[in-house]
Amino acid sequence: MGFCDARPRRFLSVEAVAVFEMWLLQNSAIWQIAGSSIFVFGASMAESLSPRAILDRLIGFRTVSRDSNLELIEWVKGYLEGHGVSSRIILDSTGRKAGIFAQIGPSEPGGVVLSAHTDVVPVDGQEWASDPWKLTEREGRLYGRGSCDMKGFISVVLANLPLMAGSNLQRPIQIALTRDEEIGCLGAPPLIEAMQDELPPAASVIVGEPTMMSVVNGHKGTLGYRVRCRGHEVHSSILHTGVSAVMTAARIIEWGNRLNEKGLASKACGFAELFDPPCTTAHAGMIKGGTAMNITARDCEFSFDFRFLPGDSAVSLDAEFREFIAEQDAGCKRIHGGAGVGAEEIFRVPPMAPESDGAADVIARALTGDNGSHAVSYATEAGQFQEAGYSVVVCGPGDIKQAHGADEYISLEQLEAGSRFVRRLVESMSEQG
Ligand SMILES: [Zn+2]
Repeated sequence: MGFCDARPRRFLSVEAVAVFEMWLLQNSAIWQIAGSSIFVFGASMAESLSPRAILDRLIGFRTVSRDSNLELIEWVKGYLEGHGVSSRIILDSTGRKAGIFAQIGPSEPGGVVLSAHTDVVPVDGQEWASDPWKLTEREGRLYGRGSCDMKGFISVVLANLPLMAGSNLQRPIQIALTRDEEIGCLGAPPLIEAMQDELPPAASVIVGEPTMMSVVNGHKGTLGYRVRCRGHEVHSSILHTGVSAVMTAARIIEWGNRLNEKGLASKACGFAELFDPPCTTAHAGMIKGGTAMNITARDCEFSFDFRFLPGDSAVSLDAEFREFIAEQDAGCKRIHGGAGVGAEEIFRVPPMAPESDGAADVIARALTGDNGSHAVSYATEAGQFQEAGYSVVVCGPGDIKQAHGADEYISLEQLEAGSRFVRRLVESMSEQG
């Protein structure tokens, strides 16, 4: 409710209001009180919220990737505005989801981007001890979907907005919040493109995925497909005259098994040594097909994805996979013209290659004191920022082990560690004294 709404207008006639306002204007003491009310209202719009208070708000927005995240984005926009920070919303093609970016400090090159995704994974079929969409504290932990991955990081960034806005930043801090990360990092590329069009180029990016505040400077890339096998139905007693889509799918999945066995058996070298497992892997996570035990299946569909090392190329991996698919397709068609196999690419996320003395690395190491070299096997948007020319690291509060499961949480201690990190970053980028 605004100050104007709070005035006793509705209790008075138009004339009475005019008299009341004249009286206010003539009575400076009362006017001052009214003025301070305006000020107080303005301040409440821009009030400082703790990371926890912001997290409480963010968890309430059910931003599962398949649903809209616009309420959260609008809330962030309003919060930024409350602190005098303008922002840009980049809608997706459906207009139901968006990313948002903003800049605080001088409009100059060389700044730091703090980046996070706003979407979360579903809670379907998971048993939670408390409502996943309501932040709940138990034994020093804050439970809620996205608390760790990665609304905790968004909270510590936004909670430090008053500090950013009130500091004499020598280089800008840019905030980038994306959509659709959990379904193949689809939202970062258009957001990065818009940022590069509209803002001076930042030097470093810190992607605040949960790393327990250690500095991760390498991750694998991912390449995912939806594979559709079409068979030809006959009685399974004469299967040589038909094509089983399920058994064709099995051949392709077995190709993935062989790739894994070969990778795990070979000796790791170079970048590979940083990863666990130290090789490119293939995985089929979902499969659906067939109608009866004794019918060669007409349809089988499955997901298939690679997690590949920074040294490996998505292009050659894709070519290798498609060559095998083409062989299977030809084999099916030799038996029945209507049978076959097709693979549709559904995501491709570049890996993040470790940089030697990258700008982001230097900053994050100085702020955390972490001098180890860490690589992870999950993909993040960091690879996309790196591909767009930024120096990047992944560093954020919370433990990835808590992400995606039931009873996801971030500890109060990690939330504070994340906030401390952002505070130190702002201090290090501000004019001393
Ligand atoms: Zn995440």
